[in-house]
Amino acid sequence: METNNDLLRNGFVAVMGSPNVGKSTLINALIGVKIAAVSPWPQTTRKRQLGILTTDSGQIVFIDTPGIHNPFHKLGKHMNEEAHSVLDDSDAILVVVDVSKPPNEEDQLLANIVMRQTRSIPILMALNKIDLVDSEILEDNNAAYEKLFPNTDARIQTSAILGENLDVMVSSLYERLPEGPPFFPEDQITDLYEREIASDLIREAALYHLRDEVPHSIAIRIDEFTERGDRGAYIAATLFVERDSQKGIVIGKNGKMLKQIGTSARIEIENMSGRKVYLKLRAKVRKNWRNDEASLKLFGFRKS
Ligand code: GDP
Ligand code: MG
Repeated sequence: METNNDLLRNGFVAVMGSPNVGKSTLINALIGVKIAAVSPWPQTTRKRQLGILTTDSGQIVFIDTPGIHNPFHKLGKHMNEEAHSVLDDSDAILVVVDVSKPPNEEDQLLANIVMRQTRSIPILMALNKIDLVDSEILEDNNAAYEKLFPNTDARIQTSAILGENLDVMVSSLYERLPEGPPFFPEDQITDLYEREIASDLIREAALYHLRDEVPHSIAIRIDEFTERGDRGAYIAATLFVERDSQKGIVIGKNGKMLKQIGTSARIEIENMSGRKVYLKLRAKVRKNWRNDEASLKLFGFRKS
């Protein structure tokens, strides 16, 4: 196909919303490859992460942001700062809400930030999870979100899980992005290195299997990532927790829990990378790491 760069659109889209509304699921669905960690429990996305969609119309670079919430921990505060700074770098904002529920306190917090931004970039809204709700409640909640976020440029009802209206979402975004050539090579889907994605997938598997037992006290460090030719990749990683009791839970009886986490994570990493993976996990205690600057830096939550 002949491409004319003048007709192409491209831009950065900040994807913002309360925890658990489906931001990461939506980005994954739009891009079609799993890169953003998704979990039924909030706060899986801890760092800013790019998802890159390239089509004949141009390139959309989604910035997956951690949620906005109470800065109770230092980590929480850092996530807030990150969400604010994303706004300065974006060409459009995609606010994602869970339309199966009425707005909560976090949606209000977000509305304050988004509606007050002075750069007047386009604001689109994804009213997500329409598959969970009947039309009457949907209309009520829709009206409540419209009141909270007046004057949005487009409002699209989506189901990230069923893939509903994602095409509408993509074309609405393209319409509002600046003209110009793509920023990234067309086969690139994320700015993260494979080992960072692997670390996210291990964390996601851990949160999934542990449920609420070790809430958000887990950090992952990739200790080794070696290519072994035909035999795939060898990955060794450490799961850091804050307390001895948590370490016991992570390892489980006869190492059963750690084994389950490892199997789930290995399958996801193999799906993502298209090759065989040998994954070795261990658990270690690093006391109170969420309030310790040095640890936050070690786990990649600080910029430099
Ligand atoms: P994030 O915190 O906003 O990034 O939310 P996630 O993408 O991690 O999703 C949170 C939970 O909502 C996960 O269990 C998803 O499977 C689920 N979810 C996301 N989108 C939809 C949707 O359109 N419909 C339904 N039923 N569930 C969804
Ligand atoms: Mg997320």
